[in-house]
Amino acid sequence: MTDYVFTPATTPSLAIEGEEARFPLRRVYCVGQNYAAHTREMGHDPDRELPFFFSKPADAVIPASGNVPYPSQTELLHYEVELVVAIGVGGKNIAVDNALEHVWGYTVGVDLTRRDLQTVAKKAGRPWDLAKGFDASAPTNPLLPVSKVGHPVKGIIWLSVNGEERQNGHLSELIWKVPEVISLLSEAVELQPGDLIFTGTPAGVGEIKRGDVVTGGIKNIGTFSFTIV
Ligand code: MN
Repeated sequence: MTDYVFTPATTPSLAIEGEEARFPLRRVYCVGQNYAAHTREMGHDPDRELPFFFSKPADAVIPASGNVPYPSQTELLHYEVELVVAIGVGGKNIAVDNALEHVWGYTVGVDLTRRDLQTVAKKAGRPWDLAKGFDASAPTNPLLPVSKVGHPVKGIIWLSVNGEERQNGHLSELIWKVPEVISLLSEAVELQPGDLIFTGTPAGVGEIKRGDVVTGGIKNIGTFSFTIV
């Protein structure tokens, strides 16, 4: 046993649908712009740009249920509903053809964003870390193993605020598909079991405020509902 000067934080983890055991989290990676219509709404050309990645702390992952706290230092909190891939087998320079062998399972999650801070960071050429990686910034549903859900490539991905539909996309619209995302990311960093990848959001991102009820989901993967407080 290593002797620490204080008790280390517990390992962040994600629930697994229908199981008591939890999925231990290591790192959380996110794809920047991965649906053509969302890339256009953010002012970029979806045809010519390679995907880019940013990350959130693993302990930013919280259940996409109950109450989710409105973060500090923002007046423009945005939702982004996303397909989330859980890595079960690590690797580097993973070939596209083998990439799905590294997947443990899938779920749906929300990449909460302090959009005002992100806009300032973009203009100033500064990092996005605190625009994206704040506390409780990744409400995420329990994971479904590949044995239950397969490898989803199509199906509606949607999000509503107070019952009003805001995002309605389709997994088939992903510019960079899951195997390509895994392969490209693994060229930049060695992936390890316990890593999550948020794969990007469809068009329709927008603001949420305290009291808003955020619901959403992906066909065959599940639905969520939480309240911003
Ligand atoms: Mn996102």
